[in-house]
Amino acid sequence: MIDYTLPIFRPPSEAKSFILQASIGCSYNKCTYCAMYRRENQKFRIRPIEEIKTIIDEAVKRYEFKRVFISDGNALVIPQDRLVRVLEYLNQKCPNLERVTMYANVGDVLRKGVENLKILRELGLHMVYIGFESGDDVVLKRIKKGASYREAVEASRILKEAGIKNSVMVLLGIGGKDRSLEHALKTGHLLTDADPDYVGVLSLQIRPGAPIYQEWIEGKFELPDKFQMIKELEIIVENTHLTNGFFFSNHISNYLPLKARFPEDKEKVLEEIRKILKYRDESRLRPEFYRDVVNQY
Ligand code: SF4
Repeated sequence: MIDYTLPIFRPPSEAKSFILQASIGCSYNKCTYCAMYRRENQKFRIRPIEEIKTIIDEAVKRYEFKRVFISDGNALVIPQDRLVRVLEYLNQKCPNLERVTMYANVGDVLRKGVENLKILRELGLHMVYIGFESGDDVVLKRIKKGASYREAVEASRILKEAGIKNSVMVLLGIGGKDRSLEHALKTGHLLTDADPDYVGVLSLQIRPGAPIYQEWIEGKFELPDKFQMIKELEIIVENTHLTNGFFFSNHISNYLPLKARFPEDKEKVLEEIRKILKYRDESRLRPEFYRDVVNQY
């Protein structure tokens, strides 16, 4: 039996990957909107290398897999020497390994730097998923993201130089009603400057356990309604100029699921969003009950 500390979160695109829980929780754990790793059993820790090797041995015996997602919340924080040993062991035990991915924080990428990341790339680290959430520094400070617009752009540059793909998440609604438009506009600018390979749009769902829940209860944070979130999506799309990237809003938290390739599909997507906004057409939107299924982040 594989030893997991639950719950486990993974991006939708890692549904077919073996999840290697090399660390538990998130070393940062301060983002005000995040309730993912707040339980007592999820206190941040990194598994000893021998324990990780035992999990890999067990996984190889039980499953066939070509992809590995290393969890939990920001696995790139694992010290370089241990991460190298994990990747080396994975390569040794899984000769068909195609790719390894993980979540990372902007700060983890900045601390690792190009040279360390190149080594991880050589060992199979194909892509990292990073939550930028917003391009608005006012919002970033308010939600205690721990990284600024400039740092997010720098982290993206480092990843490009190291040859690691960058999958960025941004969050509709996180600016509240008061910074909704600034949040959307600056998020579009950030995506343009960062020029990631993938953009994943999510919509804020306020969950008990996240500090923002209390702010919301006390009326200090107001969540934009569904059409305001779609307006944010329109502004983000308008202001996002990717060289060659995918733009997805297919995460279950979103009202409007989209899958597009930028730049070629951008105008088509804008047209669709504008039509929905113009007629306030709910028929294309996900019903609330469906969005409320506890989501994978
Ligand atoms: S959003 Fe990511 S970085 Fe922030 S607390 Fe949650 S897991 Fe950690």
